[in-house]
Amino acid sequence: MIETDVLIVGSGPAGSSAGLALSTYGIPNVIVTKYGWLADTPRAHITNQRTMEILRDLGVEREVAAKASPQHIMGNAVFCTSLAGEELGRLRMWGTEPRRQADYTLASPCSMCDMPQNLLEPIILGAAAERGTKVRLNSEYISSRQDAEGVTAEVKDRVSSETYKIRAKYLLGADGANSKVAEDAGLPFEGKMGVAGSINIVFRCDLGKYVEYRPSVLYWVLQPGSDVGGVGMGVIRMVRPWNEWLAIWGYDLAAGAPQLTGAAAEAIVRNLIGDQNIPLQIRSTSLWTVNDMYATRYSTGRVFCMGDAVHRHPPMNGLGSNTSIQDAYNLAWKLAFVLKGKASPALLDTYDEERVPIGRQIVKRANKSIGETGPIFEALGLEPGIEVAQMWQNMQARKDATPQAAAQRENLRKAILQKNYEFNTHGVELNQRYRSAAVIPDGTPEPSFERDAELYFHPTTWPGARLPHVWLQKDGRPISTLDIAGSGRFVLLTGIGGEGWIEAARKASAAHGIAIDGFVIGPGRDLTDLYGEWAEAREIGESGCLLVRPDAHVGYRAAGAGDEEHRLSAAIARILGR
Ligand SMILES: Cc1cc2nc3c(=O)[nH]c(=O)nc-3n(C[C@H](O)[C@H](O)[C@H](O)COP(=O)(O)OP(=O)(O)OC[C@H]3O[C@@H](n4cnc5c(N)ncnc54)[C@H](O)[C@@H]3O)c2cc1C
Repeated sequence: MIETDVLIVGSGPAGSSAGLALSTYGIPNVIVTKYGWLADTPRAHITNQRTMEILRDLGVEREVAAKASPQHIMGNAVFCTSLAGEELGRLRMWGTEPRRQADYTLASPCSMCDMPQNLLEPIILGAAAERGTKVRLNSEYISSRQDAEGVTAEVKDRVSSETYKIRAKYLLGADGANSKVAEDAGLPFEGKMGVAGSINIVFRCDLGKYVEYRPSVLYWVLQPGSDVGGVGMGVIRMVRPWNEWLAIWGYDLAAGAPQLTGAAAEAIVRNLIGDQNIPLQIRSTSLWTVNDMYATRYSTGRVFCMGDAVHRHPPMNGLGSNTSIQDAYNLAWKLAFVLKGKASPALLDTYDEERVPIGRQIVKRANKSIGETGPIFEALGLEPGIEVAQMWQNMQARKDATPQAAAQRENLRKAILQKNYEFNTHGVELNQRYRSAAVIPDGTPEPSFERDAELYFHPTTWPGARLPHVWLQKDGRPISTLDIAGSGRFVLLTGIGGEGWIEAARKASAAHGIAIDGFVIGPGRDLTDLYGEWAEAREIGESGCLLVRPDAHVGYRAAGAGDEEHRLSAAIARILGR
């Protein structure tokens, strides 16, 4: 029997990140994964700022950014009748509209990027293995049984067909949308699987002449039939600029799964491109369904699930692998503290409290985004069931010099703008404010959102929120507040007059046996605030303090000095569940 502290099932974004974080924190862990290698198709791409911050803390941000397509070429959502055909409208996406770009630049030390999942997984899993994760490929989780001390899982070696057992203190189910671990753990779900059918076709083709002048990662194609199933439109998705691509085309689930021959796949792709002669090579085809389902509990005893195992939704808004990595990051530090005896197992309950609401939110958001495609079809007069010739005629009608055509143009413009809720939801990505026993409220009401909470990020140090990013200086050199936090330990930030908190942190560190690094921000101190931006962002007095958890979320804050030792120690004890 193999023994370890944490057994992770699955090596996708969730499982590999869990392994990387746990190994970084010194926790022995084993990953078992069903196949002989990692993702063999590009799948998830959008890697948002919060995920990049996590990868930065885990030491792989640079490698990911170096292999990814940068944000500035991600920007044009093109709506067209085919790549070669008429363009109906454009929307700047992923924060590339100049005013939105400022929001993104101000929010984080990291940039969003476009990173195919088949390139991302080897980086994360490779770093995990380098730091100690034991990776077992061709190893399928079969079942598990838990008792008071741990979990025993039965695993099948798919090379020898032999089964063996792995004993762990905790089991993590990161085994994707058909999670056997979640099923065995009896996790309760809401929603529906298989809402719509979709075909993915990966192909090689030099499309430079159609796309270089309007660089983008997503080209949306409105054609007869493109509103059937799938994600609501035909899509040509950039994998690598500008010669590797993924086409997405829907099918009617009620009619059953299509038998997709190479010729049929090529016909779909050629229609989407609108060029019957361009050389292309179909690489692979696969079928998948749009899901609308989330777990209302992520754990049972010693079994914790994460990623698609607990939130299953379409790729709209690009939240899938991002949320999966963020789940893993949330749980990993808590497991490390519990396994090192620094926190009570009660701390692990806060994983559910903090991540279940996020999972529900992103499943609903992604499915709503599919529905918001409808008004574009309506504005163009592409009502379901009408004749193809009539469809083209209705689309052309918007060019007329008539009041009806003017209304049609205006409706189309508004319908395309509504897609900001799919492509520029900076708020959904960064406004994650946790409410749990590992967050100590300070009695102040939650700050309201001055702008749309889905579209805009609203930085705050309100307990539970992610620490706002501000460029401070260390010896005159720039350092982000987020670079001070992280590394698996607590950090305390205060200002001039708050030195009592530093002493309190030193004592609490000794008393609780955990690392708490304290920093005074101010002239002549550990860090300076030369731009004066921290003074604006901190929302506490100079002599107050912020206690930042290892995942960079604020766990506790105090407006000013006074009774520091008692207040800080009590706050830490509550966070650690002691
Ligand atoms: C077309 C498409 C486009 C997408 N685009 C985006 C995007 O732009 N941005 C985004 O964030 N997300 C996107 N997603 C979603 C994204 O791919 C998933 O959300 C993400 O892969 C989930 O990660 P995961 O680690 O939870 O699960 P998975 O990546 O599904 O990994 C599951 C792992 O578990 C293993 N496994 C399964 N069963 C067992 C078993 N019994 N025993 C052992 N191992 C097992 C698998 O082999 C795999 O390693 C997209 C998805 C699709 C289909």
